[in-house]
Amino acid sequence: MIAIGYDVVATTAHALESGTLASWIPAITPLSRSNFGPSGDGTSGLTTINFNIFDKGGDGYEYITQGYGRTSYSYMYIGNWHNGIDIAAVYGAPIYSPTAAIVLAVGDHDDFCPRLAFGRFIVLEDDTNNLVLLFAHLVDIDVQPGVTIAKDQLIGTVGNSGDETGTHLHFSIFQSAGFSMASAHGCGPYPQGHDVDPFNYLGTVYQ
Ligand SMILES: [Zn+2]
Repeated sequence: MIAIGYDVVATTAHALESGTLASWIPAITPLSRSNFGPSGDGTSGLTTINFNIFDKGGDGYEYITQGYGRTSYSYMYIGNWHNGIDIAAVYGAPIYSPTAAIVLAVGDHDDFCPRLAFGRFIVLEDDTNNLVLLFAHLVDIDVQPGVTIAKDQLIGTVGNSGDETGTHLHFSIFQSAGFSMASAHGCGPYPQGHDVDPFNYLGTVYQ
């Protein structure tokens, strides 16, 4: 079980820059929503987030609007790195957990740094696989920290909180080792750790 601390110095795969979040997002012209393909207007994309769509034969990949790592948009992020994937979905689409897990943290970065970070988020700890899952830009959060949840349990709904140009789900996977929710970037408790490529786990570990 990972201890949640606000004063932990996290080690990260991609070194976090110092300073406030506002300082590491360059001043740019906002992307048009159409840059994110089918996501954005809140009425297109998946109507339910159930991770079995990434199983062999599933159509999940058709709804990916931004992949992992260096992408066309990753210049906007810490270290020019998109630490997860973006999935097009309608506003309010229910999100079902791909795994049994413990709710490690929930929060709302918009309380600290409006429209600059993950907005409303849920962090799950999967003790079986020693992984941590992040779901971001939500509207509703339907779980409480410390609670154990089951696979396929409703955890929240897709929204457009935080830093985004349109409605979608941002999903990241981190290794449990080294993960923390240390306060960072003037955004309050912030998921930090060694992120991994979700595509190496979807359809296999999470199906
Ligand atoms: Zn994203």
